[in-house]
Amino acid sequence: IMPGTEQAGEVTRTQHFPDHKAGFKLMVELLAETKPAGGQGQLVVRAIGHRVVQGGDRFKEACLVTPKIVEEIRELSALAPLHNPGHAEGMETALEVFPGVPSVAVFDTEFHQTMPRHVYLYPLPYEYYTDLAVRRYGFHGTSHRYVAKGAAKALHRDLAELNMITCHLGNGASITAIKNGECFDTSMGLTPLAGIMMGSRCGDVDPSAVTFVAKQRNIAPEKLDVIMNKQSGLLGICGRNDLRDVHEARANGDEMAQLAFEMFIYRIQKYLGSYYAVLGRVDALVFTAGIGENDHLTRAAVCQGLEHMGFKLDVAANAASGRGTRRVSTPDSPTAIYVVPTDEELEIAQLTQALVAGCFLESS
Ligand code: AMP
Repeated sequence: IMPGTEQAGEVTRTQHFPDHKAGFKLMVELLAETKPAGGQGQLVVRAIGHRVVQGGDRFKEACLVTPKIVEEIRELSALAPLHNPGHAEGMETALEVFPGVPSVAVFDTEFHQTMPRHVYLYPLPYEYYTDLAVRRYGFHGTSHRYVAKGAAKALHRDLAELNMITCHLGNGASITAIKNGECFDTSMGLTPLAGIMMGSRCGDVDPSAVTFVAKQRNIAPEKLDVIMNKQSGLLGICGRNDLRDVHEARANGDEMAQLAFEMFIYRIQKYLGSYYAVLGRVDALVFTAGIGENDHLTRAAVCQGLEHMGFKLDVAANAASGRGTRRVSTPDSPTAIYVVPTDEELEIAQLTQALVAGCFLESS
């Protein structure tokens, strides 16, 4: 809801804050200025949903935030150093600024907790798993679940009976194989670096390529992390990380941009092939996020040549500009292909609402 108005919408304010608490306080002020839809009364914050990137092995599902939970989320920081410390700080601030208002932690890794052990383990010495918790966790789980539910709804089918491949293609990108409504495998791993090629992340490479470069160039592991996360992917190949810029360069005859796009598409197709192989039947292929929702060229290139797997794109429906959930496969396509706009905030809000409603029921 926009402050001072009766209209639904978003407010974006770019400002420097010394810490999370200061930023959170501004949000509280904006909410205080905000009128509920209809313009009557005041907005009351009944619950707060927090997105948490890394829940590790510890968190199988969303949970109410307590100081102990905050500590446990902080302890997982080694597995998500860029995210979990900030999440913990945000939760502490929420508990302080809104005493008595329940906070709920929703984990990006949660949807992927159903992966079987033989899928999530790496063939490294087993002690790295038992001692260091090194395994595939997967990310973007909230988005994969949200769009899977959206596709099931569009198909008028129960998610629990569907096999799907969901492609979250944004600046960060991941692909998930869903079997009977549950995550079976996903392309990201211990960190959000693994899987397909991304805007500036390399995705899967031979690990020895990395140790070879490190030795040859005498590069420290921390620097390697920066190179693989921020200087690789589309950016590393053609100097551009936004796919719109890559397309523009391709249109101007830039060969490296063309190469980067071909690499990007090929790597997605390889994942689709391997997930098709393990699922056996794919009821829906779903595209979402910045690229998946907006870029018909990517969707067309990904599906081209995969008709033999049952992915028959309707060229006109795919190229038509549209918003909202839409089917872009031919009526006779064995696999229904959908574009489903993701909404992680809504998914977090709904999970929060469900959990908080449950806890009010329990306490009443
Ligand atoms: P996200 O991380 O989901 O916000 O996606 C961001 C990325 O989506 C950008 O870096 C672009 O590469 C891509 N993107 C957004 N809009 C378009 C568009 N209209 N056409 C092609 N790519 C787009």
